[in-house]
This record gives sequence, C-alpha cells and structure tokens, in this order.
Amino acid sequence: AKTEGRGIVSVFDASMSEAFEARRQIEAELQVALADEQFELHYQTLVDTRAGHVAGVEALVRWRHPERGLIPPLSFIPIMEETGLIVPLGRWVLERACRDALAWPDHVVVAVNVSSIQLRQRGFGADMLAVLAQTGLAASRLEIEITETSLLEESEVTQENLAVIHRAGIRIALDDFGTGYSSLSYLRRFPIDKIKIDRSFMSEAETSADARAIIRAVAGLGVSLGITTVVEGIETAQQLALARAEGVVQVQGYLLSRPQPNTSLPEFDTSKQI
Ligand code: C2E
Ligand code: CA
Ligand code: CA
Ligand code: CA
Repeated sequence: AKTEGRGIVSVFDASMSEAFEARRQIEAELQVALADEQFELHYQTLVDTRAGHVAGVEALVRWRHPERGLIPPLSFIPIMEETGLIVPLGRWVLERACRDALAWPDHVVVAVNVSSIQLRQRGFGADMLAVLAQTGLAASRLEIEITETSLLEESEVTQENLAVIHRAGIRIALDDFGTGYSSLSYLRRFPIDKIKIDRSFMSEAETSADARAIIRAVAGLGVSLGITTVVEGIETAQQLALARAEGVVQVQGYLLSRPQPNTSLPEFDTSKQI
C-alpha cells in the first residue's frame, strides 16, 4: 500500500508540474500578445426596440493567436484577471474602442466590458477620462459594462472610480443581471444607468412564465428608476417580439447581429434594423 501511495503521489506531482508549466507558458504567450497587439475587438450591435435603429455596440475582445487562430475571451480573460494582465489589456481595449467609435455617427455609443480587477485599481476612473481626452471621444459616447460581482465586496476604490466615471458622463451598465448576487440595493448605492438582463432569462422566456415575468418586472423597474433595460441573447423573431411586448428598451443577440470586426460593421444610419 505504501509503494502504491508513493506511486500516486509521484503521478500527481508530475501532472501538477505539467499543469504549472502549461500555465506558465500561456502567461508568457499573453505577455507577448500584449506587446505585439495580437488582440482585436469585434462589435455587436444594440438595437432600440422603439426607434428600431442601432443605439450602440458592445466591444468584445478576441485573441488572434499566430498559430491557433481566433481565441474567444473566456479562454484567456480569467488567466489575465488572475495575473493582473487584464489591466494593460483593459487599457488597450478602451483606447481601441474609443478610436474606432470616432468614425461612427454621434448617436452610436460604444460599450466596453470592465473587469472587477480594473475597477479596484486606484485611479482607474481618472485613466478613463485621460483616454477620452487623448482620443477626443465625448464621454456621452462611452459606456462601461460591469457585473454584480464587482459590486459585491464593498470596495471604497470601486465606489470612487464609479463616481468619477459617472460624474464625467460615461454611462454605467450592470451586465449579466440576475445571475450573480442580484441586489436591488446596488441600484440605489451605485450610479447605474443601464441593466442588461442576462441571456439565460430570454432563452427560457418562451417556456417559462417566471422568466418572462422577471423580464417584465425588470423592464418596469427600469421605467420607474429611469434606467435603460436591455435583453441579451435574442436569437429568434419570437424572442424579439417578446422583448418588445414586455417593454424592454434595447435588444442584443445573434438575430440582430453577430459580433464582427470594425471593418464589416453596418453603416449605422438611423434606418430601421428591426
Ligand atoms: P458578455 O459581456 O456577457 O458578452 C456577451 C457574450 O454573449 C459574447 O460572448 C457574445 O458573443 C455572446 N452573445 C451575443 N449574442 C448572443 C446570442 O444571441 N446567443 C448567444 N448564445 N450568445 C450571444 P463572447 O464575445 O465570447 O464574450 C464572452 C465574455 O467575455 C463576455 O460576456 C465578457 O464577460 C467577456 N469579455 C469580452 N470582451 C471583454 C473585454 O474586453 N474585457 C473584459 N474584462 N471581458 C470581456
Ligand atoms: Ca458585456
Ligand atoms: Ca452579458
Ligand atoms: Ca456573460
């Protein structure tokens, strides 16, 4: 039993150091990727349910790996958050998005996802304003998307960054609403301008009266509080009709458009998309 035990331990050690090695390698690759600017932004439209035109786009990062091709964000963002590399990546995303937005009409707002790690960096709010000043994009054209989990720990720095950002006129959206530790008190304690109802609600709305009731209730809450509501993950015409019927202000999803490179975006005229 003793030798067996040792055997198991050594196998475990080997796989541990292999995992460690793989991890160290991907970290090194991510450093290179940042230096070489191997990242790119794809944009997905948000469409106004009443006017029917594109109100804005969400910037979604991808890694154009020299050998492995296009890598989706969920494969590398968590590692970048653990290693702190999300801070320089986030900065790059912000600057790229602002520069791209300069070429679009004034009514198109660009939304950038911001990690809780970035929000907890002292001076993050001031850095955002510096990027606006550098690029010349108006604050009213920029929106940040944060998740409920970023607000969970009562961080004084987060509070202050959000206050600076909001005071400047940059909008703040609460992403994936309803999946985390949703608390209505967040809507009072933080300067939230937009709620993005998580796509899991829409995927169940046709079969679940409860999911549909939640979408309706959040849309109503938005009206009362002056908060814009969005439903993500609209994939079918029925889902689009449902979102409109429940009074949701904006919609986003594959039915309207897939995330795509800046070069293949629509002309953004105010003609109706839906
Ligand atoms: P998210 O912020 O919730 O972004 C929406 C995700 O849903 C995107 O996945 C988008 O492609 C996908 N999606 C949009 N419409 C539909 C639909 O109709 N059906 C389905 N099934 N999916 C849809 P993506 O691009 O893979 O991004 C995944 C996540 O990675 C994002 O979720 C966000 O949390 C994170 N992420 C992306 N870009 C950034 C970034 O620049 N910074 C940070 N910190 N996180 C980012
Ligand atoms: Ca988002
Ligand atoms: Ca989301
Ligand atoms: Ca998500």
